[in-house]
Amino acid sequence: MVLVFVEHNNGNFKKTALEAMTYGKKTADALGVECKALTFGNNPAINSIGEYGASEILVVDSEHLSAFDSQVYSNTIADIAKANNASVIVTTHNSSGMGITGRLAIKLNAACGSGVNSLPVVSGSDLIVEKKIFSGKAISKVKLSGEVKVISVTGNTLPPEQTGSACPVTATDVSVDAPKVKVISHDKQSGGALPLPEAELVVSAGRGMKGPENWGIIEELAAALGATTACSRPVADTGWRPHHEHVGQTGVAIRPNLYIAAGISGAIQHLAGVNSSKCIVVINKDPEAPFFKAADYGVCADLFDVVPKLTAAIKKAKGN
Ligand SMILES: Cc1cc2nc3c(=O)[nH]c(=O)nc-3n(C[C@H](O)[C@H](O)[C@H](O)COP(=O)(O)OP(=O)(O)OC[C@H]3O[C@@H](n4cnc5c(N)ncnc54)[C@H](O)[C@@H]3O)c2cc1C
Repeated sequence: MVLVFVEHNNGNFKKTALEAMTYGKKTADALGVECKALTFGNNPAINSIGEYGASEILVVDSEHLSAFDSQVYSNTIADIAKANNASVIVTTHNSSGMGITGRLAIKLNAACGSGVNSLPVVSGSDLIVEKKIFSGKAISKVKLSGEVKVISVTGNTLPPEQTGSACPVTATDVSVDAPKVKVISHDKQSGGALPLPEAELVVSAGRGMKGPENWGIIEELAAALGATTACSRPVADTGWRPHHEHVGQTGVAIRPNLYIAAGISGAIQHLAGVNSSKCIVVINKDPEAPFFKAADYGVCADLFDVVPKLTAAIKKAKGN
């Protein structure tokens, strides 16, 4: 059986959770086994996950699971995986998935494929998956052997597919440890756009912006597209933009369908976090800027001229 851990917020599933569900379903189909979902906290809306291929949704409802804790979450997922004889456990490769995957693999004595970005190829009892290595400069094929495999799936690996229908929801009784770490408060980041790891459209800018007072044109372009804003590291380091917008090797790694980079040179450390984007558009006035080598489309011009024109063209095309 393939068990997919899906996170939800009052019954709302993030796109990455639905992608993991679709990944689990396709893996289960390839193995000829059943695919079940596991989620924490009950809500009538969660049976919609059946539409993404789960044959049953196992729910663990405990006050100890109300806030994310990697130890408590991985202990609980491991207990459920053992009780259900799961041979493959799928999670999302987001911040919580990264905290869970390794721990789960140790608890289950399982092979661990972390940050995978391909569906598995079944080879006998092994699964072969692909993942990026060396800051995205190479792809490694990884063979997962043994009876149990844990896989965390990178966002945008495959689109969520509604191939199933509503399915039974089963409350699962399992003892849940009290967390040893307590979250005292949360400061939620502002802005209505999707968080960067989930965003399909990203507008990003760098030091070529000259200063934070000029960011209005980037925000307008992002608003016209319905995109999330991002930035290069020095921009966040100097406080021009908030740190959660910093993308790259030491920031958030993203795989949007469209990444527009204005006034960013394209240093290797920046590319490491964005070069898996499906389409990269670079706006830079220096024809020698390294980013042009990684770009699908390049505009060699002054961003202060191009960005407002691009925004106006998008608004016109959308009829705004
Ligand atoms: C260990 C390590 C980790 C790092 N991690 C990261 C990371 O995660 N993410 C990251 O981004 N960086 C990271 N860096 C920093 C990285 O090496 C670069 O210094 C940084 O990405 C450069 O940022 P930038 O492109 O915004 O600025 P710059 O390199 O200063 O480039 C600005 C660009 O804007 C262009 N420009 C200027 N004016 C205009 C204009 N009017 N119109 C159009 N174009 C214009 C210029 O031609 C230039 O190409 C890391 C560095 C180290 C050593």
